[in-house]
Parts: sequence; C-alpha cells; structure tokens
Amino acid sequence: MNRLVKAFATPLIARLLPLVVMGGFLSITTVAGAADVPSPMSVLLIDGQNNHAWKETTPLIKQTLEGSGLFTVEVATTPAKGEDMSTFNPKFSDYQLIVSNYNGDDWSEATRTAFEKYVSSGGGFISVHAADNSFPGWSAYNRMIGLGGWGGRNEKNGPYVRWKEDVKSFTRDMGKGSGGAHGKRTPFLMVVRDDDHPITRGLPKSWMQTDDELYGKLRGPAENMHVLATAYSEPETGGTGEHEPILMTIQYGDGRVFHTTLGHDIAAMQGVAFQVTLQRGAQWTATGAVTLPPASSDLLASDRAITRDPAMLVSTAAATTEVTVDDAAAPSLEAAGWVDLFDGETLKGWTQKNGTAKYRVEENQIIGTTSPGSPNSFLCTDKSYGDFELAFEVMDDPGLNSGVQIRSVSKPEHQNGRVHGPQVEIETTPGEAGYVYSEGTGRGWISKTQPIKDAYENDKWNQFLIRAKGDRIQTWINGQKIEDIRDEESFRDGFIGLQVHGIGKDTNTYQVRWKNIKIRELK
Ligand code: ZN
Repeated sequence: MNRLVKAFATPLIARLLPLVVMGGFLSITTVAGAADVPSPMSVLLIDGQNNHAWKETTPLIKQTLEGSGLFTVEVATTPAKGEDMSTFNPKFSDYQLIVSNYNGDDWSEATRTAFEKYVSSGGGFISVHAADNSFPGWSAYNRMIGLGGWGGRNEKNGPYVRWKEDVKSFTRDMGKGSGGAHGKRTPFLMVVRDDDHPITRGLPKSWMQTDDELYGKLRGPAENMHVLATAYSEPETGGTGEHEPILMTIQYGDGRVFHTTLGHDIAAMQGVAFQVTLQRGAQWTATGAVTLPPASSDLLASDRAITRDPAMLVSTAAATTEVTVDDAAAPSLEAAGWVDLFDGETLKGWTQKNGTAKYRVEENQIIGTTSPGSPNSFLCTDKSYGDFELAFEVMDDPGLNSGVQIRSVSKPEHQNGRVHGPQVEIETTPGEAGYVYSEGTGRGWISKTQPIKDAYENDKWNQFLIRAKGDRIQTWINGQKIEDIRDEESFRDGFIGLQVHGIGKDTNTYQVRWKNIKIRELK
C-alpha cells in the first residue's frame, strides 16, 4: 500500500481508540458462545416489482440482514406488474419483521388489511429506498412510512420535513409542490440528529454513505415519525439545498417501522452506512432494542465512504471463534499437514489479477517484477482457504512495498474485480512488515498500531508465518511475533495473493521473490 493513502485512511480517532474497539469485539466473541445464541428471528422480504433492479438488490438485503447473525430471511415475490395480485397473500404473522424492496401494483384488499393489522398490532416493518415510492393512494401505508415520494404525491399527502440548521430543529413545510426528488448519485455525509435512539446510540455522529441517491422532497403524514439522520442535498449535484431525512422511525399503532431511503442499487448497498443502519434498524424494529455492537469510526467514517461486500457479513456471522492456548505459539513447519502452494517450476494453481506486473518462476522462486504505471498486481491461488497456517520466505528490493493477501476476493461488483481483503504487509526495514492492512476496501490498517519496524532483514530471505483462524490473525517474521489481532469485519475465506505494488510513474524496476510457499489448513 501507498504510504500517503495509508496515513489518510487511518483516522486519528481510530488510532486513539483501538483498545476500546477491540474490547468490544472480544467481549462479544466471549459472550456469544454457541449455547446462548438465541435462534434467529424470521424476516419476510417482499419484492417482485420495482423501478429498481430488485432481482439484484434483494440478495444483498438478505445478506446484510443475515450477516447480523440475528435473522433468517425468506423472500416473497409478488406476481409481475399487471398480473393478478390476489395470489399474493403471505402470512405476515409468521414473521418478526417484514422488509419491503417493493414498488409496484397495489396488493389485494385482503393483503393490505392483513398487513395493516400485522403492523398495528406490534409487527415490525422496514421500507428500503423506493419502497417509499409505492402505494401513493394507500393511506395506512403512508402513515407507516411517514414520508413518501413520486406517484403523484404532493401537498395533499402531507408536509415536507426538513432539518433547519439555523434553528437546529425540524420544520414542516405545507407549501405546494410535488413529492420526491433526487440529484445525481454521489457519496454524501449523513448526520445523526438523535444520538440517543437505540439505532444510532454509540455510532459516530456523522459518516459518509457511498454513491447513492439522496432522496429529497418526500411528503407524507409524518405522524409519530422520528428522524434519526439527515443528509444535506447539494444543489451542485442537482439536490434540493435542504437537510433531507434519510433514516426515520415511525410508530404505527403498536408496531415499529424503520424507513431508510438508502439503497438505490448494488453499489449503494455495498456502503457500510447502508448495511450498519439496516441491521440496527432491523433489530430495533423486530425487538425494540439494539444489542449489535456499534460500528466504529473506521467503518462509519466521515472523511470517506467505506464499502464492503454484504456476502462477507454472512461468512463473518457464521464463523464462531475458538482459540486454544496452543494458538499462542508460532506455527511449526515440523507439524503434519503442510502442502506446497508452489511447485517450484510453474505457476500452476495461480492466476494473476488486476495489474500488469510480471510474475515468473526461476530457481524455485516466484519473482514479481514491477511495471511502471500499473496498479497493484496480485498472483492469486485458484483455491480459497478459510482457517489455515501459511508459511513462505520472501526477499524484497528496498523501496518496493509488497504483501500477501489472505482470505481475499475479487468480484465484478466490487470496483471491477479489485482484489480486496486482509494483506500481511511485506516491506523492507524500517517498515511495517508483518502488520495487517485492509487492501482495496477503504478501511485502512486492520493493525491499528505498527510498533515493530525492524523484524524484516534487508537483502536476505525472511521467513513469514501467518495463522488465520476464526476472526484471529497472527503473524511472525523470522521467529518474532509481530501481530495478533481480532478482525471481525473481513472475509473468513478467500484466496492467497502475492502482491507486487504499483510504483506509479517510477521507471526503476523492482523485484520481490517468494519461495517455499506452504499452507496447512486448520479444521
Ligand atoms: Zn433509486
């Protein structure tokens, strides 16, 4: 990784508070023993019609909810537009929470009545993004969502509700005008307006959402509605020039409703801001309380939008960590079960991703050579590995940053296949060799401090040992322990990747060499 980027990507507050953050993670790991984990709550996610790509986004909503470890999600898909809706009649009362990714034809009267009864008698409901465009003529639904947009909505539907900075409060504007607008998709800053609600308690006071539509000019009855967060809609990007409500709660009878206007498309749902608030909103809506650990300011950052694949939340939630005393010791190369990842002669089993650095085999070594102007290059195993010990020897030219990816992925929906995941740093002394960086996610260092700068011996072969087990990542260089960290956020499974860092326009050639690359999978 580039040093400047690194420095920028580690907010000061995250450097000051690593123990607080880690303490939170550790206590959760300890408390959530298999015996005391409550069985997941059931959620019904409704889709089937939408002017948005619901077939693509429904799986991400499901992954985000299930990734909290609290829910199992079933999907109910309505008939297509114009078809007979009377067949859509889910048994709402079987679920603790109904989530709508639906914007389409009216449901049958029986289904509408059943839904009203479900929510008013204490059920939970979440409206995601364009679900608040739906049903402009259904008055109970509009009372549930508080505010809605488009569909002919205007002053007859209720006020515009906006935060006014000059009076530091919300105002209701009954002036004439249509309901629903958004400017160009852009990252935007969300600001918490009530930090003492279970959904927002403990979160940073503001954070960036990634590229998304910032809904504005919503209108509705806004009865029993409470705005938790707003965002300023920039006129420069076609916005309203108002602080628009983004996250709201609404009391409807005995039922709790959470309304998020976030989540226009797949890219928007990669936003940690979307994911964290949806998970917390879901737990509150279903139970009235939130026990999920609050996300820290290195995930909900106010200076940049952090993204991650919701699929990784599921793998994280599924893995329970058991660390035994033996794990304090370094992996032993004498142990049984080590397998060569590199045959010493060919790159069989490896595939290059991203940049154009050259990888070749010579004298039992894989030699990576920089290519001017190339982004970071990775030579990746074709196989994925979950819990394992990894050993390799490496010799790096001074001035070239390198690293080894573990549990990493490359998917078209994340920055056109950019390799991302934890990277064990390789850097000549003095440097941060052996510490763990979150490559390609915007998150910055996973290792919040890097006190050891000299374990790596320049111009020699250096023995690296890595153990990844559950949420714990440990590293050693030349027998010296470098890192032992819990990482709740990253994938628990993925490929191994040998990095040749981009060098910008530097026309010098740098090389990094690896040999004796071995893995020992832990069951
Ligand atoms: Zn949209």
